[in-house]
Amino acid sequence: MSFALNQVVSGNAAPRNVAVIGASGSIGGSALDVIEHSEGRLRAGVLAVNRSVTKVVELAKRFKPDVVVVTDPDVNREPLTELPSGTEVRFGPDALDEVVRRPEIDVVLLSIVGVAGLRVAWSALDAGQTLALANKEALVAGGSLLTDLLEKKGGALLPVDSEHSAIFQCLLSRHSNASSPKILGKDVARLILTASGGPFRTWTSERIKNATVQDALKHPTWDMGAKITIDSASTMNKALEIIEARWLFGLEADRIQVVIHPQSLIHSMVEFVDGAVLAQLSPPDMRLPIQFALYKTTRLPGPTRKFDWSQAHSFDFYPPDFDRFPAMRLGFEAARNGGTSGVVLNAANEVAVDAFLNGRITFDKIPALCRMILDAHTFEARPTLSRIFELDAWARKETEKWISR
Ligand code: MG
Repeated sequence: MSFALNQVVSGNAAPRNVAVIGASGSIGGSALDVIEHSEGRLRAGVLAVNRSVTKVVELAKRFKPDVVVVTDPDVNREPLTELPSGTEVRFGPDALDEVVRRPEIDVVLLSIVGVAGLRVAWSALDAGQTLALANKEALVAGGSLLTDLLEKKGGALLPVDSEHSAIFQCLLSRHSNASSPKILGKDVARLILTASGGPFRTWTSERIKNATVQDALKHPTWDMGAKITIDSASTMNKALEIIEARWLFGLEADRIQVVIHPQSLIHSMVEFVDGAVLAQLSPPDMRLPIQFALYKTTRLPGPTRKFDWSQAHSFDFYPPDFDRFPAMRLGFEAARNGGTSGVVLNAANEVAVDAFLNGRITFDKIPALCRMILDAHTFEARPTLSRIFELDAWARKETEKWISR
């Protein structure tokens, strides 16, 4: 590993250079807020967006990055003439792969949504970088590839997803010298991923089946983008997190458990062999796991909301209902099988969610389509990067075919 955990991020040292990949999104915005509150400890050296050129110009004026990347080469470039002088501009997906490899970058925060994140994660880890990973699809689709690469190139992989960050924090409390999330000892009995249960937690199957887009977009506790909010309602978000946890922490799927915790205050837990359970609690605010990753696990004051202990709080736990929420079953299955299961499940889900958002299918068809495409695909245990992208394209086409029928 390229860094010592618990190293002090001193205010006098040179600021840690962060590449914010996905700067215009919800996680990107929270990351920039953390950077702004870092008292000079962090700076945004790279701001990358897909096509939000007006937004990135506004951000560049505030954060003075060395380079701005716009991955869609066909956007209207006119607003970019307003960039501060001295800010380099680069276009296209290749530019993204190049900037995350630059040696002056200390941490790559990868917060773009979708399987495109896999290629960028691969590039960053191939260059031995520290990768703060907020993109789920990279590990879901390319878990074995990325974890092998991490081992070979000696980079670091820090989770930003709140559940995985919580588990990492609980594990660190027991292994203070460990240098990556893969620090499970024999004393860990299981990882417990908490799930809010989403807006349909108490709904019947029949009601869930006919849920509208508006219903599904009403998340009770977290404020997130549309795709992830739908995934939360279907619990596919948890399914992807189960797969993510399997790779990140390097343990079998049957040592991962899901618990419904509607308040979203306990972000996940670790149960040890003696029965003790450690949990990480904080108000739902992504700035905490982002900050923990950007400071490479050093704890410093930050902008995150704090608990108000003068108020009453309650923590409820319920077992998950796999019949009303079959997506979680798919997650466990894909985590158990590994290989190409993750990329196929993810691609089918993305197409199905899009079709639901456009009123083309009912809500219950999302996991049903994923089930069908998973069953139809030819499984491979150790796919290459190019094979993963081929299967991604295949699963999208196949799902679309089913929807159009
Ligand atoms: Mg999460």
